[in-house]
Amino acid sequence: AAEEGFDLDEVEGDLARAGHGPLPVVAVVGRPNVGKSTLVNRILGRREAVVEDRPGVTRDRVSYEAEWAGRRFKVVDTGGWEQDVLGIHASVAAQAEFAVEAADAVVFVVDAQTGATDTDEAVVKMLRRAGRPVVLCANKVDGQAGEAEAAYLWSLGLGEPHPVSALHGRGTGDMLDAVLAALPDAPAQTFGGGLGGPRRVALIGRPNVGKSSMLNKLAREDRVVVDDVAGTTRDPVDELIQLGGKTWRFVDTAGIRRRVHLQEGADYYASLRTAAALEKAEVAVVLVDAGETLTVQDTRILSMAVDAGRALVIAYNKWDLLDEERRFYLEREIERDLVQVQWAPRVNVSARTGRHMEKLVPALETALSGWETRVPTGRLNAFLGELVAGQPHPVRGGKQPRILFGTQAGTRPPRFVLFASGFIEANYRRFIERRLREEFGFAGSPIRISVRVRE
Ligand code: GDP
Ligand code: GDP
Repeated sequence: AAEEGFDLDEVEGDLARAGHGPLPVVAVVGRPNVGKSTLVNRILGRREAVVEDRPGVTRDRVSYEAEWAGRRFKVVDTGGWEQDVLGIHASVAAQAEFAVEAADAVVFVVDAQTGATDTDEAVVKMLRRAGRPVVLCANKVDGQAGEAEAAYLWSLGLGEPHPVSALHGRGTGDMLDAVLAALPDAPAQTFGGGLGGPRRVALIGRPNVGKSSMLNKLAREDRVVVDDVAGTTRDPVDELIQLGGKTWRFVDTAGIRRRVHLQEGADYYASLRTAAALEKAEVAVVLVDAGETLTVQDTRILSMAVDAGRALVIAYNKWDLLDEERRFYLEREIERDLVQVQWAPRVNVSARTGRHMEKLVPALETALSGWETRVPTGRLNAFLGELVAGQPHPVRGGKQPRILFGTQAGTRPPRFVLFASGFIEANYRRFIERRLREEFGFAGSPIRISVRVRE
């Protein structure tokens, strides 16, 4: 009876959107102000109908889901990424390079009114090296008159420029057709996806926490020859490592090994690498230095992993450096600073001595299993019924908002849609999340809860 009056089409839509497996990724790159963000908004059309309640975690959005001609894909908007740390020239190329590493196809946006600049040429060189399909978008062609300017962009050597006005929508349909045509049938990242292939792990953390030491320690166990594993592509930035009897794909390890150490902009590179690695991974191992107090950068990286919706394991590295006193304070720090992610499994390891490294695999497995947990609708609603009866929402303005019905709209990570008779306050949402976790687990996984108010 509780289901009466719901728009089941909408629920179905959620279920369809939740989908399975990774979608192909389209990166939108180009100089500042050429219109990347405008174009991304145009591609998304109506943006995010569902408002997510995730306190304190909205920045560093990596990608958005979009659809064109019945095909779903992800759009990586590099427009919002900070770009003033290095010189414009270097940062645009670097930014594009990182986005491209994780992409199946690239939309390169050029301002047709300005024409190609030196920075554009630098990006073109990088794109050629990367070897991903590129669709050249000649933006700001608001009318017929601009088409001639767009034609000059043939000179970039990237094939036909697609004249577009991101602002008014002119030409974007044709351009998207070209993007879809450029996408491979199966996205590169589905290899080794949830279908029995190697799980994809990202080792992330601020510089010097021990990422490359950990990778080396793990790789020493047993490095796998790429060709030995069926259904895997040769991706030089990933490394396949055998651990606990299984093969794992550590993604974007070139970024770890590259170890860019610039005076300026090191943080900038680090954050791009983190975003790119998260984009490809299913589970993130966030390394922190047990010998030091948690920094703002550590917290930021944790938020990025949660925001990206990846399963999460926290590795306290350099445990060999701990003395009694430090250990005492560390326990308190963990309680105080990691409340937001207290659901994540923690391992206390030393990449140097190898201490407790064998605990990493069970932690990864726990996190991935929480990430893929699905609660049947019947069980969920029995639980919600009890929860609401036991602790109803406070009365507001003479009315008592009630949770009427809920469904799990997706996994990887678990996403719930709850239908309510009135506005549900943030405190009560957090209470629901806590109780959901107590009841169903979800260890090692963020969960998303969105509430729809039934009019
Ligand atoms: P980004 O830095 O590449 O993300 O660029 P934005 O999307 O922020 O756009 C930069 C400026 O160009 C804004 O003022 C936009 O309104 C403008 N712009 C974007 N697309 C077009 C377009 O197709 N035609 C015109 N005339 N202006 C545009
Ligand atoms: P990355 O920048 O995160 O890749 O960090 P590295 O792996 O390069 O490590 C930075 C420094 O910390 C190096 O001097 C490592 O030898 C050291 N280190 C890494 N892991 C450990 C550890 O578990 N214990 C100790 N004592 N030192 C470590």
